Amino acid sequence: MKRISHWIDGKVVEGTSGRSGVIWQPATGEQQASVDLASAAEVSAAIAVAKAAFPAWRATNLSRRAEVMFRMRELVDANRKEIASLLSSEHGKVLSDALGEVARGLENIEFACGVPNLMKGGFSEQASTGVDVYNIRQPLGVVAGITPFNFPAMVPMWMFANALACGNTFILKPSEKNPSASMFIGELLKQAGLPDGCFNVVNGDKEAVDAILCHRDIAAVSFVGSTPIAKYIYETATANGKRVQALGGAKNHMLVLPDADLDMAADAVVSAAYGSAGERCMAISVVLAVDSVADALIAKIADRIPNIQVGPASHEGNEMGPLITGEHRDKVASYLAGAEAEGATLVVDGRDDVPADGFFLKPSLIDNAKPGMKVYDDEIFGPVLSVTRVSGYDEGLQLINDSPYGNGTAIFTRDGGVARQFQFDVQVGMVGINVPVPVPVSYYSFGGWKASLFGDQHMYGPDGVNFFTRSKVVTSRWPDPRTSTVDLGFPQNR
Ligand code: NAD
Repeated sequence: MKRISHWIDGKVVEGTSGRSGVIWQPATGEQQASVDLASAAEVSAAIAVAKAAFPAWRATNLSRRAEVMFRMRELVDANRKEIASLLSSEHGKVLSDALGEVARGLENIEFACGVPNLMKGGFSEQASTGVDVYNIRQPLGVVAGITPFNFPAMVPMWMFANALACGNTFILKPSEKNPSASMFIGELLKQAGLPDGCFNVVNGDKEAVDAILCHRDIAAVSFVGSTPIAKYIYETATANGKRVQALGGAKNHMLVLPDADLDMAADAVVSAAYGSAGERCMAISVVLAVDSVADALIAKIADRIPNIQVGPASHEGNEMGPLITGEHRDKVASYLAGAEAEGATLVVDGRDDVPADGFFLKPSLIDNAKPGMKVYDDEIFGPVLSVTRVSGYDEGLQLINDSPYGNGTAIFTRDGGVARQFQFDVQVGMVGINVPVPVPVSYYSFGGWKASLFGDQHMYGPDGVNFFTRSKVVTSRWPDPRTSTVDLGFPQNR
């Protein structure tokens, strides 16, 4: 059985805790590997390595740090298929989806190649007579990333690219369900010329996470995962004096107005709800359909569902793979069992006719979902789309704003004025106008509102650079006898 260990100081390091986790092959339901789960002492040892690597890396000039990112960009580009096949094997997502994940992750490495420009400060000449004031951005030290199972390559890239380019050293604690992409990234960063010790992968579970959150040499924690854990990470790490950004879960609504192109809306929602088996934090899980078009829209969605090819990634042409574990598949299926008891209508039941092996569930469609029903309220994180009928824009908007989550949302309409009003009114961090999955490009930043983000800096892009650096302001004057006097008053310039 394949064993996945840790990547520390530029090499694979076997775990010593004696604890390990199971890596499944979701498409077959079989165990394919085991992963070492680090003890607090092993985490501490990895942090010591990253701490020792920090002074030389932060002193490495900007051009050289950028050069490492440029080389990493070429290596990830050349290894797209290799990374994607690791994702397909351990996560289950089909190859086209996995390649999309790598492409969106790669954007973040490309963004970080611009680090000499991104870290520029400001300069004010003659702020007072003979006095100049300027600010510089400096790295924080050893920073950590803790990532979820659903984007095992892209989410680490959201974090480490800016963190390393800005001069920090990095501890990555990937999801224990699919750590191989992170281990491969470690090898690629070494090939790209990153000095040993600057990027380390510590595999583990809660014990490793808690060791990171409490360690005095960790300056900042970047987290992506479910809302209860995000809240826990934020509260624990900030209580230990760390800078934290903790992105949580989601329940994304798409509002379809009567003037929308219904075929376009149906194509979009089917793609956004069932892509990656609904295991995306930006998946659409609720359609708010205005009454006058609800029947027609539901019919168009239901027509499209049987055409979705569900099966293993190994079979070319499949569009939707299995869920991550059997346990998660059963949990998602339990929402279907409960939906009718709650008063909703099961239009398409994804439990029918599923492949015999693996953790599969087919796409499901539920009508008449309402607030207060579990199927409406909970983040299901599977291929289950609910439809809630609304009287119009105002009711739809109200439901979105009442949701405790605020990650992504979309409006489908041909009316530019209403769309503009929506972007003004809606209390959500990422908004799509006739775009169902509005994940920002890497030169903007990614982040939700409300229970979808704890902390105030969004992920990657300009916020990512802010998060992984701190500003220092220097007020300077060079010896000039003409301006030198004793003055005990508070410094002022008038
Ligand atoms: P998760 O919260 O279970 O796990 C995320 C990370 O936290 C993993 O590394 C895991 O090992 C660790 N962890 C889990 N339980 C812990 C505990 N009790 N104490 C300390 N650490 C713990 O999330 P997941 O199931 O891997 O991923 C799916 C979730 O992530 C969904 O809720 C999804 O919406 C969310 N997500 C959010 C975004 C976003 O950008 N907002 C992006 C992707 C995924």
